[in-house]
Amino acid sequence: MRFLSQIFQPVITIPKGAKIKNTEITCKSQKLLMECGLVRPTSSGLFTILPLARRSITKLENIIHHCLEEVGAQRLSLPCLTSAKLWKQSGRIDSVGPELIQVEDRHGKRYLLAPTHEEAIADLVADIGPLSYKQLPFLLYQIGNKYRDEHRPKHGLLRSREFSMLDAYSIHASDACATNTYNVVTDAYKKIFRTLDLPVHRVQAPPGDMGGRLSHEWQLPAAAGEDALAVCPSCHHAARARQPGACERCGADTCAVNSIEVGHTFVLGARYSEPLLAGFVAPDASTAPVHMACYGIGVTRLLSASVEALSSEKALRWPAAIAPYSAVVIGPKEGSKEWSAHGFDRVQDVARRVEQNAFRDDVIVDDRHQLTIGKRLMMADRMGYPHIVVCGRGALEAPPRYELFRSGDAEPRALDLNELLATLADQRIRQPVDAGADYGESAG
Ligand SMILES: [Zn+2]
Repeated sequence: MRFLSQIFQPVITIPKGAKIKNTEITCKSQKLLMECGLVRPTSSGLFTILPLARRSITKLENIIHHCLEEVGAQRLSLPCLTSAKLWKQSGRIDSVGPELIQVEDRHGKRYLLAPTHEEAIADLVADIGPLSYKQLPFLLYQIGNKYRDEHRPKHGLLRSREFSMLDAYSIHASDACATNTYNVVTDAYKKIFRTLDLPVHRVQAPPGDMGGRLSHEWQLPAAAGEDALAVCPSCHHAARARQPGACERCGADTCAVNSIEVGHTFVLGARYSEPLLAGFVAPDASTAPVHMACYGIGVTRLLSASVEALSSEKALRWPAAIAPYSAVVIGPKEGSKEWSAHGFDRVQDVARRVEQNAFRDDVIVDDRHQLTIGKRLMMADRMGYPHIVVCGRGALEAPPRYELFRSGDAEPRALDLNELLATLADQRIRQPVDAGADYGESAG
């Protein structure tokens, strides 16, 4: 159990139209995350992630780990610095050029702060190889910081120069095998987004700089998004389009929505393995480049995109599974009549019971008892904690009654302790649910 008075959360107020570190405040997630003391810009496109946002990101990473490990992915860590030589070999040093942050060591050897690791993975395979077909396929992933020298960083964590990303790579002896794993991993993606309860659409996309023969973007509708989708209200098919039109699958009229790209997946073929000489030995003893597929989710971007999609202008809202804390408990104001009947010990006791019954290690007590309940309730609502438990006037009753505010509910509910615990136990975040019916599966 943690106490709010001890949390490092520098709350600020940003005046209308203000620029922070030469950056305009262009969307609500950027403003709210800064104002609520969750992130601080250090310079254009670079951010310090403060403790409460760090907690959310860890929760998000855990969901991603869980869903990927479940389909056999193995975690590794590649260096943030990739030799520039490998990017010359793949030809991307020129195509991606200006977006790469390049550095030179004391011996004059050039590196880049990697925005993605296809070259590094292909080089790993080349370095070990040639692999036997018997060692294939395998699926590797990492979650870590990536770098892109955005021409114009904007929207806070939505378009930053340093960002956390899941990047996964699968290595195969055949295109059919790559396609099979691609489908398995994209099912894991659907499970991740369902766990977050976010309507992320999979849409077919051009491969762009990455190359390969098939790719999908994973798009979350949000007004501040820079991409545009045509979404079918009838069959949920989604496609990249600036204008609404007839759904290509069922013919119904589509709706135009702005959206944010939160992930991208590619079947790459030999796009990287060929130039980087990552080969394998087939059963007939011939050698060929391995087939690759790669999978990315922008972790810090997904966090800010979900906040962007769910929040109002005035208050943060999170997917319940990644809110900084699942519940906050607010006790009476010090010196009040309620306080004499329901002091700090009893408030802590309620919080402890909530932890034990519903949200293990995931409850925070707003112990700033010098503040009124109303003031703390307002701040808790602005922070978007999914469950707010108030020990107020009802705490004087026998048995004491507590008010439970759940985000989304119009009115709080007055419950005794057993009712409160039973209600919250019901809200426990379950393990990632089965993919089942999905959000906006699209053809191709
Ligand atoms: Zn349709």
